[in-house]
Amino acid sequence: MARTKYIFVLGGVASSLGKGIISSSLAKLLQSRGFSVTIQKLDPYINVDPGTLNPYEHGECYVTEDGAETDLDLGHYERFSNSQTSQANNITTGRIYQSVIEKERRGDYLGQTVQVIPHITDEIKRRVMLLGISGKYDFVITEIGGTVGDIESLPYVETVRQMRWELGRDCCVIHLTLVPYLSAAGELKTKPTQHSVKTLLESGVQPDIIVCRTERPLTEGLKDKIALFCNVESSSVIESRDAKTIYQVPIMMRDENLDTEVLRKTMMPTDTSPDLKRWEEFLYKLENPGGEVNIGLVGKYVELKDAYKSINESFVHASAANEYKVNVKLIHSEFLTKDNLEEKLKGLEGILVAPGFGERGIEGKIEAIRYARENKIPFLGICLGMQCAVIEFGRNVLGYKSAHSTEMNPDTKYPVIDLMEEQKKIKGLGGTMRLGKYPCKIDKNSKTYEIYQVINVSERHRHRYEFNNDYLEEYEMHGMKGVGINPNENLVEIIELDDHPWFIGVQFHPEYKSTVAKPHPLFVSFVKAAIEHKTTLSSS
Ligand code: GLN
Repeated sequence: MARTKYIFVLGGVASSLGKGIISSSLAKLLQSRGFSVTIQKLDPYINVDPGTLNPYEHGECYVTEDGAETDLDLGHYERFSNSQTSQANNITTGRIYQSVIEKERRGDYLGQTVQVIPHITDEIKRRVMLLGISGKYDFVITEIGGTVGDIESLPYVETVRQMRWELGRDCCVIHLTLVPYLSAAGELKTKPTQHSVKTLLESGVQPDIIVCRTERPLTEGLKDKIALFCNVESSSVIESRDAKTIYQVPIMMRDENLDTEVLRKTMMPTDTSPDLKRWEEFLYKLENPGGEVNIGLVGKYVELKDAYKSINESFVHASAANEYKVNVKLIHSEFLTKDNLEEKLKGLEGILVAPGFGERGIEGKIEAIRYARENKIPFLGICLGMQCAVIEFGRNVLGYKSAHSTEMNPDTKYPVIDLMEEQKKIKGLGGTMRLGKYPCKIDKNSKTYEIYQVINVSERHRHRYEFNNDYLEEYEMHGMKGVGINPNENLVEIIELDDHPWFIGVQFHPEYKSTVAKPHPLFVSFVKAAIEHKTTLSSS
């Protein structure tokens, strides 16, 4: 195998230009030419991982197989490439400093003064190279969070400078910038890009490729202008137009030759071409649906579009699989009450109650579940959503009026959801949940088995509380079954209702494992049930 090539993606001018999507699209293109690729995200904030961040701060926290709580961009990467990431793929400034300080306390620096350069930059470099020296990858794509010019990004930019200098053509720098359209002038403006490249040059980094995010097409003249002012070849100025869906971006980047440019810059063979046949089939299905269904996503972060990222994307994958468009209607659980339930939920062909933490909006979630149960609307409860389904059943079917989770009410008389034994002694909040993949054994006599078609599955977790097994027998007698069990710890992972067309709650997060190539079976089946529900309603 040739030496690993290191590709850095840095953003300029503004945040939210889609570095994660560009990186994932590039990974997809290289992968579809037969190269092995991995993606890494370096985040310049001081939290050790995003696990302790409120979704309002940073969107969803994405969990990997090995239980790392990571940036949501890793989710895009897994969804695009259908390959898995791990703790090594997401590093923050907090984690870098944590290891440098631990080394200093151990005395590893032998009396030296520990400094940003070289110690912090060396640690960043070590974390990047770690993926390369594993020998598994032709390409390591490292996306640097934040925007060029930020004070907190400086050590990362300096590391890029050193690596580009040391590795030469085994390293390539992509700069993603914005080319805004000024309607008053009727023109696209290249000056912000020129300034952003100047800022990079001040740190000694010359980009090899410039990807320009733009609302309108870049003319050849404009590309030449950017090339001239920013010291890059015209063919290395890549247009990235706003797309209808993020899933079009790999196709757009292929048409703009981003992958060919990267191969050329890193002296890799360019005689292959990306095979995107299955990807194009997926896009075709997505863009030509046979009909539409409305599914309610009940949660407390609905004003924030990134808070339920993986759930929304799982619906996109399930849409294509069913060749039916899913309209996800966000419903704020905090404002959902017995009195407005009908008005807010009518017209929905499926209801998903979202994961979450804490008291806010909990009663609205429980009401939404009652509505789905009583009106036989397909229901999927994820993590807290499943726990709420258990609480609702306890209160309204078993008659335990004060049934609750001890997370919301530690003194409840009916703790139907309770803290796991091993969690009781834990004090800190960072990285202390039940995280990552755990096995689950599915009862052959269940709808869930029909959906998965296998008995043993593995799914990713992120929670502290569990179904309280003291109540299991009583629940099962009345029609709520524990149909998926963790075989090692005997924990209930999946519940199902007998007397309902499609009512499933899962303690894990199926949304983390849904990809374009492998849509998650639970989402595919849930959407199918919603389509069937719609058909039944219209024929009755
Ligand atoms: N707050 C619940 C728990 O910790 C559910 C977590 C979740 O929905 N991810 O168990």
